[in-house]
Amino acid sequence: MKLTSVGPSGPGAKEKCGLFGVFGDPAAVEKCFFGLHALQHRGQESAGMVLSDGETLYGFTGMGLVGEVFPQRRMKEMSDLHAHIAIGHVRYSTTGSSQLINAQPLLVEYSLGQVAVAHNGNLINATLLRDEYEAHGHIFQGSSDSEIIIHLLAKPTHITKPDPVAHVLNHLQGAFCLLLLYPDRIEAVRDSYGIRPLCLGRLPASGAYIVASETCALDIVEAEFIREVEPGEIVTIDKTGLHSRFFDGPAAVTPAHCIFEQVYFADPSSTVFGENVHIVRSRMGQQLAREAPAQADLVIPVPNCARCAAGGYAQESGIPYARGFTVSHYAGRTFIEPQQPMRDLAVKMKLNVIKEVVRGSRLVVIEDSIVRGTTTKGKMGALRRAGATEIHLRVACPPIRHPCYYGIDFPSCEELIANNRTVDEIRDYLEVDSLVYLSLEGMLSCVKDPPQHYCNACWSGKYPIHVDEAVSKFAFERYQRKLFE
Ligand code: SF4
Repeated sequence: MKLTSVGPSGPGAKEKCGLFGVFGDPAAVEKCFFGLHALQHRGQESAGMVLSDGETLYGFTGMGLVGEVFPQRRMKEMSDLHAHIAIGHVRYSTTGSSQLINAQPLLVEYSLGQVAVAHNGNLINATLLRDEYEAHGHIFQGSSDSEIIIHLLAKPTHITKPDPVAHVLNHLQGAFCLLLLYPDRIEAVRDSYGIRPLCLGRLPASGAYIVASETCALDIVEAEFIREVEPGEIVTIDKTGLHSRFFDGPAAVTPAHCIFEQVYFADPSSTVFGENVHIVRSRMGQQLAREAPAQADLVIPVPNCARCAAGGYAQESGIPYARGFTVSHYAGRTFIEPQQPMRDLAVKMKLNVIKEVVRGSRLVVIEDSIVRGTTTKGKMGALRRAGATEIHLRVACPPIRHPCYYGIDFPSCEELIANNRTVDEIRDYLEVDSLVYLSLEGMLSCVKDPPQHYCNACWSGKYPIHVDEAVSKFAFERYQRKLFE
C-alpha cells in the first residue's frame, strides 16, 4: 500500500501525545488529571484516563481539553471508583482522524484479561503490520497506528512467550513511548532510540510512582524526579516497586533523541534528555546572536516558544529585550479551525502588537522555528504596520526541509516554506530586512550529548531509522480514515 503524505490542518508542526501514569496513590484520579493538564501542550484534541482498583480497569475518554473531558461531575464519579492506579493520555489528531474512537488510552479485553495502551510517537511499520493482520481476519476499530499494539499483544503465539510484552515490542519500528496498564501493574516502555522523552518520579507523601512524558508533569503533582526511562527499557511498576528489563538489549543502538523537543515542543520548565529546556533554548539564542548579529534597538520574541531563545540573544548581543506582542489566553485553539481564513483570524485574535514598543524601532525578531511561514508572515506584517522601521528575523533552528516519521505532524514537503526555497527567497516572501537561521552545527552545539545522539532528520534529511516505505503516523491515519468513510 502506498500512502501519499498529506499536510496537517494547522499552521505548523504539531506534537502528537503526552503520557501520564500513577501507581499506588489513593488520589490517583486527581493526580492523573493534573498531570495531563501539565502535558496539555503535547495534545489538545482528546484526552483519556484508564483507572484500576487493582482488579478491574475503567476507561474514560473524550474530545477536547483535559478540563473539558473531565469536568467536576465526571471527576467525582471517577473518584468514587477508589482507583489507586491510573494512566492518562492527551492527543493531537489530524484532519479526518479527530474522532473519539482514536482517543487513548485504548482499553480492551483479550484472552489474558484487560489491558489499556497509551502511545506517544509514530510506528513507521504500522501499515505493514496492519495489512498483515487484516489479511488474517483481524478487525480494527479506529484509524490510529497505536491500535496495532493491541493486536500484537493478543496474538495467540505471542501470549505464550516467556515475556510477551518484550516479544511484542521487538515487532515495533519507529518512535514509541508506551504505558500499558494491567489491573495490577503499569509497564512503561521507551523505544530503543529514546526518540521521545519519558521519565519516572515518586510522590514523597504516598510513595506512589509517577511516569510522565515530561518532568513538568512531575512538578505539578509535587513528585520527585527519579530518572528517565532508558532507551529500550521496560519498567514494570507494581505493588513491590520498580522493576527494569530491556527488550532489545541495553544500549542496543545509538540514541536518537528528537532535538525538536528541545527547540519547540517540550515545556521550558521540563528537563528533557537530561537538560532543562529553557536553558538549552537560551543557549540556542546566544549561539544565534554569535552567528547572526544585527544592528537593532530591541530584541522581540514571537510568543510563546521563542521567549527563551530571545532572552539568550539579548543577553549575548547586549540589545535590550522587549515584549512586542501580547497573547490572549482566551482565544481558543487555532489549529482545529478547518479553513485557513478562520485559522488566520484565530491567530489574529491570539496575538496583538504593542505599538508603543515597536513604533520607530529597529527590531531583531526571534522565532523558534518556521514551518509553513504563513503565520510568521502575518506577524511580520503586523510589526511593520505598527511602525517597526527594520525587521531582522532570526530563527533559533535551521530551515525545516524534510518530513518527520517519528511522531511530529509537519506539513507535506511541498508546504514547508524551506522546501526548494533559498533563505533569500524566504526573506523576500516574509518581507523582512534580513533573515538568518541558526546553523545545524550551532544548534547541536547547544545540547550536552554528542551530535550523533540526536535525531535532526527534519533539517538534515538523515533518518536514524530507515524502512523502505516509512509512513508518517498522520498520512497513515488519514489514509485509514478514508477507508472508513
Ligand atoms: Fe524530531 Fe525532526 Fe527527528 Fe522528527 S525528524 S524526531 S521532529 S528531530
